[in-house]
Order: sequence, then C-alpha cells, then structure tokens
Amino acid sequence: MSCSPVFEAKLVSVSVADPRPLTGEPLPLDLLNTTWVSGDGLQDWLAGERGARAWLDQHGFADAPPTPGPLRETREALRALLLDRDAVAGVNAVLARGGERPVLHAGGAHERRVDAEPEWRVPWTCASQLVALLETHGSRVRACANHDCVLWFLDTSRPGTRRWCSMAACGNRDKAVRHGRVKSPLKS
Ligand SMILES: [Zn+2]
Repeated sequence: MSCSPVFEAKLVSVSVADPRPLTGEPLPLDLLNTTWVSGDGLQDWLAGERGARAWLDQHGFADAPPTPGPLRETREALRALLLDRDAVAGVNAVLARGGERPVLHAGGAHERRVDAEPEWRVPWTCASQLVALLETHGSRVRACANHDCVLWFLDTSRPGTRRWCSMAACGNRDKAVRHGRVKSPLKS
C-alpha cells in the first residue's frame, strides 16, 4: 500500500526559509520586520501570498488566509504610530475592525477569540498586542539606530542600552563609519 511518488510529494509541507535578518521579536515588531534593507534595496516578505503564508504559519496562524493587503496596511499603521505616538488613526482603524472575547469550554477551559473578518484577525491581533507592548514596555521598543535600517526590536537587555538590530549587521558598520574605515553610510 505505498503511495505514488507524486502523491507523497503533495503530502510534504513546503517550508519557506525565513529570509529576514532579524527574527524573534514580539509579534507586532516581527510584523514590522517583514520589511528590511538588503543589497538589492528594500525587501518585503509580505509582497505576495507566498511570503504572507510563510509568515502566518511561522506564528501559528495556519487558519488565517494569506491575504497580504491587511497585513501590510497594519504594518504601516504600526510603523506610523511608533515613529510618532500621536499618529493613532491608522492603528485605531485596524482596532475598529475587530474585538476579543473569552469563550468558555466545558470542563473549565476557556480561550480568547478575535471577532473580525478572517483576513483582519491577525492584523487586529498585531495592533492589539502593540498597544499592550507600548503600555508595558513603551520605552524599550526601538528602531535600529542605523538610519538606513528599517528594523525594530524590543530591548530586553538589563541596562536597556541596545541600539542596533544586531551588532554584526549595523553596530559594526556604525563603528567602521565612525572610525573612518567606511566613508559612506550604509546604503544597501
Ligand atoms: Zn539595523
């Protein structure tokens, strides 16, 4: 009872390698970090459904439709708020698309369920989690200090003095620029 090779191939889930330079940040910041600057310019993992599917799966949202538009729209609303804490309109518009409620299960268990259109559930969750993150760790949410870098991180270092997305990518580059080993700022 062996499967044909073609049938077997269909059963293998396709894993898309994560191409991004910075991963592992809290969900809303990880959404921001789906854009980054490489040698070829600004990259966008959410440019199409393939990347959106991979990003959603990576975060356990296998049920969410891989519609990149709402994710990208939310990403830019979050970025606008982080760059200017008075720029609340975009994030409020995303938050207005849904809400969260507890749902009880027999036996005492319960879950929190997001009510929103399917393609807006994850964006809503990202916006909601950013609000919570800013409430608890607002001063620790930072953009990389390299002005040519578009990455964001939560500074979890004890002294709270982290400045770079990574020392290897941007910190060492900054040192080299300051010490005259590199003449122009990072353009790629
Ligand atoms: Zn950086």
